[in-house]
Amino acid sequence: MGDDRTDILIVGGGIVGTALAWALARRGLREVTVLDLDLAGVYASSELNAGGARATWWQPVNIDTCRATLDFFDEHAEEFGFRRRGYLWLYDDPDLHRRALAKRAIQNQRGLGVESLTAADVALRFPLLDRALDELVGATFSPRDGLVNPNAVRAWFRREAEAQGVRFANRHYVTGVETRRVAGAGGSTRRVAAVHATQVERRGALADADLVREVLTSHRVPGAAARGESRIACEVIVNCLGAWSPVFSAKIGIGDVTEPVRRQICLVGVHASDLAAGVDLAALGMIVDASDLYFHPEGPHVLAGYSIPDEPAGFDFAYDGEAFFETFVWPRLAHRASSFERCGHVRGWSGLYAVTPDRSGIAGPVSGFANLFEAHSFTGRGVMQSYAVGLAMAERIDTGRFGGIDLSPLDRSRFSDPTRWVREELHI
Ligand SMILES: Cc1cc2nc3c(=O)[nH]c(=O)nc-3n(C[C@H](O)[C@H](O)[C@H](O)COP(=O)(O)OP(=O)(O)OC[C@H]3O[C@@H](n4cnc5c(N)ncnc54)[C@H](O)[C@@H]3O)c2cc1C
Repeated sequence: MGDDRTDILIVGGGIVGTALAWALARRGLREVTVLDLDLAGVYASSELNAGGARATWWQPVNIDTCRATLDFFDEHAEEFGFRRRGYLWLYDDPDLHRRALAKRAIQNQRGLGVESLTAADVALRFPLLDRALDELVGATFSPRDGLVNPNAVRAWFRREAEAQGVRFANRHYVTGVETRRVAGAGGSTRRVAAVHATQVERRGALADADLVREVLTSHRVPGAAARGESRIACEVIVNCLGAWSPVFSAKIGIGDVTEPVRRQICLVGVHASDLAAGVDLAALGMIVDASDLYFHPEGPHVLAGYSIPDEPAGFDFAYDGEAFFETFVWPRLAHRASSFERCGHVRGWSGLYAVTPDRSGIAGPVSGFANLFEAHSFTGRGVMQSYAVGLAMAERIDTGRFGGIDLSPLDRSRFSDPTRWVREELHI
């Protein structure tokens, strides 16, 4: 791609940027370009996550976006490898358990059907879990949650978007952003800018604003030096850079609240002969242990993840290998299930969570800019929110307002007022 222009430029082709591209194209906005330094996703959280999909959250905006996305996954269940096998959440902390049960009202009003289980119920329904159940104060089971193949979902969004004319520009690393100060939303007559100008007028926001005019990228090929810079001009730009979003924000003078934090997961090998009587691993969904370890069946293995407390922020992709398994994973698995007594480490990896102070994502227009939007920092929830966030942001960009899916609680302005934070506690 040499010097170029597009109506809508999405920076970041992870699952969120790709879902947005698809949703824009579906609305007839097809002059859309997605830029990414590596669409294969070596550094994309979308390629490195655990494939959990649940609507069982505490905040309405997170429940609603996840529920809509799970329903969409269900419509494509076979293609996306979506299985509604449920989320089982074990508690040994009475206060957290009490608060989780209190949230069932808001969850079940929205049709999630979350059940409250005793430790005896857990023993009966989940024969895998045959150890230390007396430590539990209870559990919840959410039958409509499940597991999905995120790579298949992202590939679907991309294929459908490309079929409608969206361009995906690979190996373009955003190195700079050019803005200029304008009155209102600028004078372009192109459709998107015209639509956007109308929105700005409707809001009465004709004050001067910065307008992003061009993005500079460096074209890179693995193992080779950068192949020079190119420029792409745009009418509207959307930051969909996930954990990398603060790097972009810094280029336009915004101090971001998001921090990239390493998360490790691994595949665990379990011999069929080690399974306790009546245990069918393949039939299970996600289990979140009271120790914060989470695991689910993954092909012939079990996938297990654990967030090390106080993990420092940084772009750290190092995987600790056997040490991670031996220190954090195996002891917790074996503590809860005799079937895991002799399990082994197969392989693992690490990826980045984009962590915000309230553990909810950031989405909406960026104040002070006439044509800049953002949808990023979805912590451990980006896959399960992707469809709804894509649809909602496309509507916001096209019409100037959110429709059926209202993401306004996720506006970045909330961070200046702690009473507007969208605090999530059931993050893992
Ligand atoms: C270990 C782990 C487990 C997880 N488990 C789950 C789970 O079970 N369920 C769930 O829903 N979520 C889970 N998540 C979170 C989920 O993966 C993310 O929220 C989601 O993938 C974020 O998608 P995104 O499109 O916003 O960002 P990303 O997928 O990270 O995409 C950002 C893109 O920006 C590109 N980029 C970066 N810098 C530049 C630049 N300067 N120029 C151009 N391109 C750039 C990158 O190459 C990347 O493709 C997990 C995450 C991790 C790390």
